[in-house]
Amino acid sequence: MNSPRHTTPPLFPVADNQLVIGALPIARLAERVGRTPFYAYDRALISARVAQLRQALPDDIHLHYAIKANPMPAVVQHLAGLVDGFDVASGGELKTALDTSMPPHQISFAGPAKTPGELRQAIAAGIVINLESERELRAAVQAGEALGIRPRVAVRVNPDFELKSAGMKMSGGPKQFGIDAERVPAVLAEMKCLDLEFIGFHIFSGAQNLRAEAISEAQEKTLELAMRLALDVPSPVRALNLGGGFGIPYFPGEPPLDLVAVGERLSELLPAARRALPDTELIIELGRFFVGEAGVYVCRVVERKVSRGQVFLVTDGGLHHHLAASGNFGQVIRKNYPVLVANRVESDGDPETASVVGPLCTPLDLLADRMPLGHAREGDLVAVMQSGAYGLTASPTAFLGHPTAVEVLV
Ligand SMILES: *Cc1c(COP(=O)(O)O)cnc(C)c1O
Repeated sequence: MNSPRHTTPPLFPVADNQLVIGALPIARLAERVGRTPFYAYDRALISARVAQLRQALPDDIHLHYAIKANPMPAVVQHLAGLVDGFDVASGGELKTALDTSMPPHQISFAGPAKTPGELRQAIAAGIVINLESERELRAAVQAGEALGIRPRVAVRVNPDFELKSAGMKMSGGPKQFGIDAERVPAVLAEMKCLDLEFIGFHIFSGAQNLRAEAISEAQEKTLELAMRLALDVPSPVRALNLGGGFGIPYFPGEPPLDLVAVGERLSELLPAARRALPDTELIIELGRFFVGEAGVYVCRVVERKVSRGQVFLVTDGGLHHHLAASGNFGQVIRKNYPVLVANRVESDGDPETASVVGPLCTPLDLLADRMPLGHAREGDLVAVMQSGAYGLTASPTAFLGHPTAVEVLV
């Protein structure tokens, strides 16, 4: 069975039959980088995406970038000039964020199992700690006392609802993330007697959602929950992180998220929220939506092999750099990412069905499974689109000991 053709056109222009990234045709970019495989991220596309969000969402929504989607320092620095804050989820990401021009008070730190060391770093830096548990609350207060600095904390709430049709659900029911909504009033009461600065709430319910109605419904419930919890706060809510979950299309037939619909619905919800939370900064935190479509993974065809009639393009790239494209990063059913022969976009021969595989000694090392592709030759460049998020750092780069991939921002 052949995979269906992708209908989503790549955002990147094509000139002289080559994919163009950051104004460079792909073959020239590959020469500039000096070797394959590599990831290339297009700064103009990242900027355009932020502008599109600002246009669609109400003016007073603050945009935060969740660094785990793509922690390449140059990408994070580029976004520092475009968004209103960063969300980090480890001491390592905290360093990356603090190395940029983003002011520390606009950085927050979520994620379970924060160690005493990470909490001390966060408090010393003056960033906001999103508390994932009551244990973390106590550890943060202790670390603050030891340092003589009041920790700035927000409560991450595990809401009593879930984000419907999300690719990854992170709320509702029992979860390792956040403090269960029903426990939060008691935690807020305890906070009244503790030496800390209360900032607000972080309510993140899921990721990779392409349905505007589902996102709007989660936002409505999130605002309702926050307004309810705000009745018990130790001090006014200064920031409310509404989560994110905006998805990008990866697979054939997936329509892009209707951002305008999300923005319109949020504008309708805001007046009531503004009355209850007049001085609260409202934050939407996104990862892949900023960067996912602005990145490509590029590898070179080492061998064109035919086995019992099936064409394999054997490349120097694979799942060790791009686990998600191989279908092994959370997908239930493997589907092909958009893949193309990037230095020969329109084939001179007949298009053919081919599988793109990598150098690893495992059948899992599959970047495209029997996909309609241009007729590729040895030396050609294969590009995996929609690869700007959860690429290199979400991959087992040490597996089989091949060199890692280069990353460039162009
Ligand atoms: C992973 C994560 C994000 C980013 O998710 P995307 O799907 O990339 O937008 C945002 N916030 C939190 C708390 C996360 O864990």
